[in-house]
Amino acid sequence: MQIKTFKMGQFQSINSKTVRLSILDDSVALDETYDRVERMLRNFCDTNEEKEILSCWEKAVSKKCRNPLQLWSAFGLAMRALENWGKHRSFLAFSIRQVELSQEFERSSDLFAGMDSVNSAILVADSYLNMAKGNLLMSQYKNSEKYATKCLSVLCSVRKSNLNAIKLSGYAYLYKARSNLGFSNFRNALEDLERSLRVAHDQEDRRLECFACCAMGALYLQLKDYEKGNFFSIKSCEIWTQCGSSWSTRTKVTTQLNLAEAYRKVGKIEDAMVIGEEAMKIAIENDDRSCQAYAMLCFADIHRVRKDEERSLPRYNSASGLMLDTGDQYGYMMSTIGKAKLYLQTKDYQKAIQEYFAGQKIAEAIGNKITSMHIHGELALLFQRLSNQDEARVRTLRYHRLLETMELFCGICAEPMAEKNEQLEALPCSHFFHLKCVSNNDALEMRMCPSCQKKPMKQATL
Ligand SMILES: [Zn+2]
Ligand SMILES: [Zn+2]
Repeated sequence: MQIKTFKMGQFQSINSKTVRLSILDDSVALDETYDRVERMLRNFCDTNEEKEILSCWEKAVSKKCRNPLQLWSAFGLAMRALENWGKHRSFLAFSIRQVELSQEFERSSDLFAGMDSVNSAILVADSYLNMAKGNLLMSQYKNSEKYATKCLSVLCSVRKSNLNAIKLSGYAYLYKARSNLGFSNFRNALEDLERSLRVAHDQEDRRLECFACCAMGALYLQLKDYEKGNFFSIKSCEIWTQCGSSWSTRTKVTTQLNLAEAYRKVGKIEDAMVIGEEAMKIAIENDDRSCQAYAMLCFADIHRVRKDEERSLPRYNSASGLMLDTGDQYGYMMSTIGKAKLYLQTKDYQKAIQEYFAGQKIAEAIGNKITSMHIHGELALLFQRLSNQDEARVRTLRYHRLLETMELFCGICAEPMAEKNEQLEALPCSHFFHLKCVSNNDALEMRMCPSCQKKPMKQATL
């Protein structure tokens, strides 16, 4: 269904057929409209306080748009630029406004001749996903999950008939997974990542596959299965190399940084450094403050592992500064913990405790249980060393309580998981076990999960 073509003035012709969903399309190659929006937004970002950017920009852009659909699309392009620059607070503000605009489409179906309910539902879904993404960038996982779920429910009725709707649902599962990973619900995260990968394979959407593999890598790194973490991180970079020439460079840099982290954890320090440096170079070229922050954190970690404390500390400090600036609480927390580990290394125990306390506060605020658990574990050891047995006992107790909350006990040997580098295996019901326990377990010969007694309904997809 084609709606009438408008004379666009400053912007390209946009109709509900050609409207670009910002979630599905991040190509910035040879795109004049994007360039124009980006240049204009850059001016507003340079001359306005962060909280005023949205209103000033919207006022100016509205004048150039002939209809609300154009304005809605301009928001999508502007958010792409904001994301690329690491302006996460503005991204979130823009996404909230874009949802309002799309809800206007839903309410007034005759806003455009020919704009049917399927298309307006898709615009609403795309806007919700931007909001999920905005919240995710700010480590607000509950909100992020909420809007990804809202997106899925909007898509529910139109999914069967519309290709864009199917693809969007794949991204909604991805954001839901990443939110769940944020608050350490590993089973839910795995289930949604598998759904997302299924959509990616069915629709041959390599970009979605790249993102999902990257998130899967992050999931296994958090569970300390470094082998699987490396496998998926390498895979996401391979996909990027094969098909990503037209994708935004941010996609490349985030997959690179994920791989650098994976390499560092298995001791491939030199490789991690090379990739980190390349990522940093691109992040600086693009003025991407968020990726600069993560690259800086990567260098700080590498220098810490090399026992080069003098190089490490200033890099942690500038990573913290950048994370604060972009509103990335998760990244800020990781920089704080890195600093704590560094002080531990130099036997500056009081400073280490201080940093761990600061990290703990953020972990609890954003609901990141696994980091919270690791901090309790580190503090227990530290207090023991300082002969503070009472405090050590309290920390150990909290550590175990969190292990239980996250169900990080292997259902076969009853030993904890995610404590040290160990290979894990997830059954199709998404219960995790030690790989070595799954390999020699009798119940599994009857294809039954030892944790939930479910027979796997599908083949393991991994
Ligand atoms: Zn086990
Ligand atoms: Zn199970």
